[in-house]
Amino acid sequence: MIKYMLITLVLFTQYDILYIFVNKKPMKISFIPIRLREARKMCGYSLDQLTKAANVRVTRQSIYNYERGVMQPKPDMVKALAETLGVNESFFYGKSTKIDMPMLRSTGDNMLSEEDLHQLEAMLSYWAERYLLMEKKIGLKSVFSNPLADIKVSTLDDIILAADHLREAWKCGSGPLPAVLRLMERKGVKILSAELPDEIWGLSTFADETHPLIVVDMRPQKTTIERLRFTACHELAHILLHFSDDCNVEKMCNKFANFFLFPKQTFIEEMGSEHREQLTLEEMIDLKELYGVSIAAQVHAAWDIRMISREHYNWWYDERINKNSQEEGWGIYSFPETIGREKRVEARMKQNNP
Ligand SMILES: [Zn+2]
Repeated sequence: MIKYMLITLVLFTQYDILYIFVNKKPMKISFIPIRLREARKMCGYSLDQLTKAANVRVTRQSIYNYERGVMQPKPDMVKALAETLGVNESFFYGKSTKIDMPMLRSTGDNMLSEEDLHQLEAMLSYWAERYLLMEKKIGLKSVFSNPLADIKVSTLDDIILAADHLREAWKCGSGPLPAVLRLMERKGVKILSAELPDEIWGLSTFADETHPLIVVDMRPQKTTIERLRFTACHELAHILLHFSDDCNVEKMCNKFANFFLFPKQTFIEEMGSEHREQLTLEEMIDLKELYGVSIAAQVHAAWDIRMISREHYNWWYDERINKNSQEEGWGIYSFPETIGREKRVEARMKQNNP
């Protein structure tokens, strides 16, 4: 009966440290079942495949039970699973790479459920830990420094200034930014592509308080390329900027994304004037194809800097954008967005340890 009760406890309080009594002495245990499940999924293993891949005799049923928290793996089993999945054993006890959960932000209207959050924490922790371990093994330094650390943002002007400043610090010039995900990777931001819940486009947080992480959902059925670029830059704003308390942070991050991808001055130069009676679809398609910024984002930017009137802005949304939110037939940004650093690190590691 006591045994049964303890197992129930394991199931419902996965994240607390638990005590079980072995020979009447309390023993700390904290193997986190969801971490095994997420690590297995991140490696692309089915239960059967992990059973086969493990350098130890184990049954599919046992792994299934470890993942559900109804059985605790013994230390040598944890060691074998850690080796197979490429992490330290401490990962399974939540003592490895720490994901800043209060920082974990999502871009989208849906709130994440508790279950989603636990799953994401396990997934991110696994990914970050394996990534950082690989980098260390091949002697790659992963350094991130924030060029906007000293800037506090409260107004639109602050945002525009911050976006310009970042372009300067990262030596991006004032023109189109192709491959913005690769740019972030070069600057020490770790980017993961993962399937995210509906209505969630991106997430950002820190690992061990030092390594910025961004998760984007890159599936074409989920996002357009312009939206992907926008989402990544929105998440970047969360990572880099400090906001004053009265700010609407989500809106500010959107504005940062917009003006980082398409600087204010460049936008004015392209539009030929600081004030315009009307914007034409043709010119915006042309700019979308060059700068990788959606028509909707351009109309927003034009209103933000009061290039156009409120009436004209409303007209664009009511008559055009809301009727074609996917912007079908309105041009395509053809430069690809990819992520690649992790794969290169992986390849170098395999070469070093064939
Ligand atoms: Zn956000």
